[in-house]
Amino acid sequence: MSSRIAHPHYMQFRRLPGGKVLMTNAVGGNIVISGQLFDKFCAGRLTFDEMPAALAKQGFVRELCDEECYKRGILERYFEGWKAPHVHIISLSAACRLSCVYCCAAATDGDKRRMTKETADKILDFIFALEPDRYLLEFQGGEPLLTFPLLKYFVFKARKMASHKKRPVFFSVVTNLQECDEEKFNFLTGQGITVCASLDGPAMVHDLNRPAHGGSSHSKAAFWLKRFADYAAENGTEYPNAICTVTRHSLPYAKEIVDEFIACGLKRVQLGPVDPLGRAFQAWDKIGVSSSEFLNFYGKAISYIMELNRKGITVYEKAALAFAKQLNGLARPRYQNLDILYRLAYNWDGGIYGSDEARMLSNSGDEYFRLGTAGSCSFAELMRKPLAIRLIASSLTELRQPMCSRCPSSLYCRVPPVYNYITQGSIHGNMASNERCMLYRQVYELLSSLNAEKEKADIFNKWSLGYE
Ligand code: SF4
Repeated sequence: MSSRIAHPHYMQFRRLPGGKVLMTNAVGGNIVISGQLFDKFCAGRLTFDEMPAALAKQGFVRELCDEECYKRGILERYFEGWKAPHVHIISLSAACRLSCVYCCAAATDGDKRRMTKETADKILDFIFALEPDRYLLEFQGGEPLLTFPLLKYFVFKARKMASHKKRPVFFSVVTNLQECDEEKFNFLTGQGITVCASLDGPAMVHDLNRPAHGGSSHSKAAFWLKRFADYAAENGTEYPNAICTVTRHSLPYAKEIVDEFIACGLKRVQLGPVDPLGRAFQAWDKIGVSSSEFLNFYGKAISYIMELNRKGITVYEKAALAFAKQLNGLARPRYQNLDILYRLAYNWDGGIYGSDEARMLSNSGDEYFRLGTAGSCSFAELMRKPLAIRLIASSLTELRQPMCSRCPSSLYCRVPPVYNYITQGSIHGNMASNERCMLYRQVYELLSSLNAEKEKADIFNKWSLGYE
């Protein structure tokens, strides 16, 4: 018997309802243990004999911690190997024929705000002056298929520019699929462009959230998603992605929404709460969801998805997959998606922003987040701007926010500065009363608790090994 004592290494923890304790650390350790065991560990009374192996394996025991490994994990978390932003989100116009209740882009039918070829050239020059390992161009709107010739122009010219750089370039298009036809389908599949669409559930929910002038927008969205999914299944290419924006209309239909994704041939379900931006801000009393309402909905959806997995049906949820991958050390640390450093957004007029939400805000006339304009500044100049520095600093919450520095969810979460700006009047946010912070804490506590159950941990593990 060894009476040697195991002492806790640096960690964040929270006591969960029911008495268990969630612990995480800066290098990805995540464990849920009993309150009794936690108290003994922290009081310096836990011997090596009594210590569960997972505590040491995940870097929580000071005496057994591999400091080199720990150092490596922290360096990776904070931008080691950073070269330049590789994700570039480009809004081709502010025009869209749908009138979604939560539209953040202030897009309207017949909107004249459209990108010119000259602006497209300036944006491409700006992007390809950067030197990331690879480029990802994502086309947004409004509805990008309404400006199909410009989209094609971007794709062909970007391919040429990337080949001069001898670097790969990838494309995705975020579309409502209302303008899709055979020609566009053939172009998108032929060029290997990933399609990302909205699917808010069966017609009764989808059409409430995303009304079309001439009737249902659901039928076209579901039809084309299924076509793209069937194509992917037949050709071994990437499946289309669909996102369900959860509004008050969605709350009673967690199961039906998951079933709708499956009916469209999709394996990946993505569920996100509506943001109080654009039209959603005006209609918040009718469509907004609180953190507890979303959590309740999300919990039901995840539990249904787990039930389907037990029956052998292939389906997973995107946030849960990202979480599972982090648990297994298979995901890139979340800072590798940080706005400005890894991702930039461009508006139809060439305006450059640190995030797509910031870009969308400008369509409603608020240019607070505009960092510059393509053609009149370089990335280096843009990075020296006080706003860029403030935005990056505001995202390092666990180093700057008292609540985040002690929060076990800080490894996974990030409340966007635009959300803080709109709801709390500051890009930094006040986490004590921040609804999105509350939601993230609860979602990650839920996922951590599920992962503490062997059967569910096995499902998470299977997802993280099987899906990208
Ligand atoms: S924003 Fe909230 S959930 Fe995220 S790390 Fe900070 S305190 Fe935790």
